[in-house]
Amino acid sequence: MDREKVSNDEYPDPIFFTPFTFLFFWAIISAMPKHSNTHKLRNHLSKEEALERLSEESFDRKVVSFYKYVRIADPTALRHELFAEWSALGALGRIYLSAEGINAQMSVPEPMWEMFVEKLYARAEFDGVPFKFGVEQRNDAFWKLTIKVRKQIVADGLRSHEYDVTNVGTHVTAKEFNALLEKGAVAVDMRNNYESAIGRFEGALTPDAYTFREELPMAKEMLQGKEDEPVLLYCTGGIRCEKASAYLRHHGFSQVYQLHGGIIDYKHQVEQEGLESKFKGKNFVFDERIGERITDDVLGICYQCGTPCDDYTNCREEACNLLFIQCLACKEKMEGFCSDICQKGEFQAPAPKGSDQYRRSIALSRA
Ligand SMILES: [Zn+2]
Ligand SMILES: [Zn+2]
Repeated sequence: MDREKVSNDEYPDPIFFTPFTFLFFWAIISAMPKHSNTHKLRNHLSKEEALERLSEESFDRKVVSFYKYVRIADPTALRHELFAEWSALGALGRIYLSAEGINAQMSVPEPMWEMFVEKLYARAEFDGVPFKFGVEQRNDAFWKLTIKVRKQIVADGLRSHEYDVTNVGTHVTAKEFNALLEKGAVAVDMRNNYESAIGRFEGALTPDAYTFREELPMAKEMLQGKEDEPVLLYCTGGIRCEKASAYLRHHGFSQVYQLHGGIIDYKHQVEQEGLESKFKGKNFVFDERIGERITDDVLGICYQCGTPCDDYTNCREEACNLLFIQCLACKEKMEGFCSDICQKGEFQAPAPKGSDQYRRSIALSRA
């Protein structure tokens, strides 16, 4: 889903290239063994080349996510250290760092896993951070390593007086979550609308939000009158519920529960303990897989013809890049484009996230 252009920052300025130096470098590069220094070259590879190399790897990768709210004194310095450390291990993924903590989704070569954990836990701020493993372990879950320094690890738009991170909800297991649902407690999906469109807990409230920022006040609004009833929050891996539960408690909700480890861990507990999965459909994930199947239920519909479908795709027109649900028949008919405009090559400018055009296109996918 991520089509960020590959950076050319590390190439020398073209002014230094004469035809001779070009040939010289070409000869050296062609003579290099194909797998040498893969991690150093990664940022020079196109997505297709990177995926091809991943498919040629002789080892498996662990797809893992973790987060921690912890004070980080110098996120930028830590970013550079982690980038060097993880590049050397061949780890890939998308990581956010901020003064308030870390939020990481990664794939780590299995042979490097122990070393990865050892190095991570050797840092006082991350010692003992719990890992969540993806349901589907796919080597091509990520194709590059991106570590971004942000103001927050989850953008919530809240000011610090609107919540107190030490006053969060009660963490519950899959079994406890199921029991509370059976007793009639209301569940709220704290993810965005395109995430709940392809999978959710039965009967859950799914705020029609495009961002977590919009989601919080919407959820509060939908829960009005339930201040003294049990309220069950869930999200992908649990991180958004940390903020959401603190926010709801701050706004007078007295019985806030949150699914510990999110849908990712729920799925594992369901399998291990032989529980009924009350989560139906797919768990949307922010990597190449887009969705991990939890049950066979298909909750979404094709954006173009309305038949049941839960496969997301990005519009083939790179400038458009719209993420939408498209069935196989429509994919063939539309050649992977989201609209006639894109198919004819008449797409003008990317619809900015949050714009009406963007919101409408996503909204259509779940109408
Ligand atoms: Zn269709
Ligand atoms: Zn398009």
